[in-house]
Amino acid sequence: MNGISASPGIALGKVVVLSNNTAVLLKKENIDPQVEKERLQESIETSYSQIEELRKHAIANVGKKESVIFEAHQMMLKDPKIMTAIEKKICDKELSAENAVNEITSKYVNLFNNMNSEYMKERASDIKDVMGRVINNLMGINMLDISKINEEVIIVAHDLTPSETVQMDPSKIIGFITEIGGKTSHSAIMARTLGIPAIVGVGNKIKSIKENDFIVFDGSSGEIFVRPTDTIIEKYKAIKVSQKNEKAKLKKYIGKKTISKDGFEVTLEANIGTPSELNIVHENDAKGVGLFRTEFLYMGRSNFPSEDEQFSAYKEVLESLNPYPVVIRTLDIGGDKQVEYFNLPKEMNPFLGYRAIRICLEEENLFKTQLRALYRASMFGNLKIMFPMVSSLEEIIRIKEIIEVVKLELEEKQIVFNHDVELGIMIEIPAVAIISDKLAKEVDFFSIGTNDLLQYTVAVDRMNQNISHLYNQHHPALLRLIKSVIENGKNAKIKVAICGETAGNPKLIPIFLGMGLREFSMSPSSILKAREIINKLSQKEMQAHAEAVTNFSSAKEVESYIKKVIRF
Ligand code: PEP
Ligand code: MG
Repeated sequence: MNGISASPGIALGKVVVLSNNTAVLLKKENIDPQVEKERLQESIETSYSQIEELRKHAIANVGKKESVIFEAHQMMLKDPKIMTAIEKKICDKELSAENAVNEITSKYVNLFNNMNSEYMKERASDIKDVMGRVINNLMGINMLDISKINEEVIIVAHDLTPSETVQMDPSKIIGFITEIGGKTSHSAIMARTLGIPAIVGVGNKIKSIKENDFIVFDGSSGEIFVRPTDTIIEKYKAIKVSQKNEKAKLKKYIGKKTISKDGFEVTLEANIGTPSELNIVHENDAKGVGLFRTEFLYMGRSNFPSEDEQFSAYKEVLESLNPYPVVIRTLDIGGDKQVEYFNLPKEMNPFLGYRAIRICLEEENLFKTQLRALYRASMFGNLKIMFPMVSSLEEIIRIKEIIEVVKLELEEKQIVFNHDVELGIMIEIPAVAIISDKLAKEVDFFSIGTNDLLQYTVAVDRMNQNISHLYNQHHPALLRLIKSVIENGKNAKIKVAICGETAGNPKLIPIFLGMGLREFSMSPSSILKAREIINKLSQKEMQAHAEAVTNFSSAKEVESYIKKVIRF
């Protein structure tokens, strides 16, 4: 079966199925409301201290940011509205404490689930998590303590709460798969931070996996094999060993320069979505952040992030990387990244529609809030600002006008900021790639977004599985466009980077080096491999190969040429 890849890596092992904690709640007779209220209080105190332990565990093992969710859980236990409602149920309906908690929990869960908002659905599972603990404590049920599992297992669950995920010891929990959830759910984010392979959103078919089943899965591809054949097991064992060896071998590149055999120095930076990824950025020795996709700050919630919230996220990243550069990209909502509270109209072709800078130039207040947060943060590190989905000169001119207004407003308020923040655009629409010689005069840098540039060049929706065979990074048309953008940037003496997925593609790195690219930004886990490749190659030799690939007629020819002539 298949699911959504949430955290990379191969997992092979025995399954522990986490069933939902649905204790059978019997109706109790002869209730003494006073006794039940005392039992409730006691259970709340116990639950509070248990969550406090989880919070401390999270700070020590995952990070301060991820521990905040447990503070929210503790606040729920102290929420007077919820507690009064439970006590009222105990008194008015003569319910036992556990039944009263259960009724109130169901009420809130139904209410939140019916709101049809991802954010409120997450709050529903938070309430279930916290109140499930209170009920278990009332009933003396020991919850499966994930932190006490002392053999290697793969967890299979309907969903995992943050309190479950945070307790996972990566040497014991060697992977997990869940029925629901997406790439940006708390548990997926924590899995990546803890380095636990994970697949989420498998759907109903996950129910065919039983306790103690042996399974194999690949967190990068989302493939799961239940009770696999020996051939599959051997194949994935071998992949796992080679991935582990490769990772260990690459550690020697930490702290090294990225420099070609003939002395051309290259900067390798990381792509991130939230500040919680900073530890992976440092572990992989990135020399900056080349793409901070800020839309993740707007996702998984029900309202716009305030200027202050944004400011502190940007400041955290800038300070953490200082003096290395951090390229923060303004909001890129639309396309596949939909956020409910934006109330965007349904469109026939969202990728060709109201998206990214197009929204920001219409919704000026939204844009100005983000720009104010960015300029305020500019004092805390080496900030560069980048704009997504630019398709024309007029947009660049308008962006710069709005920036001047924002700067004036900040000056009036006597807020200090860096007046010379570099401004760049993403080159991800063929039109701007083609006129990049002209646009180079208007901006300080280009960053080529090959994920979109490829989809618009070959007219293949990057999310459409049915035509994914046509979405090939080796297409010579894409390579020609990239080459001309790098050349146009060089002629205009502005910096050019690539920040799409191709930047970390080992087969294409030599080609980009040959094209004269000096700045690559990629997923943090690809950085050390890229450094190894570049350190083994000569830029001069790669130039001829870069020239050759743009003269082929098909992706297939490009691929076989690279395979034949480039060795590292
Ligand atoms: C790209 O399009 O290549 C890119 C880096 O942006 P995103 O993947 O966020 O659209
Ligand atoms: Mg893009």
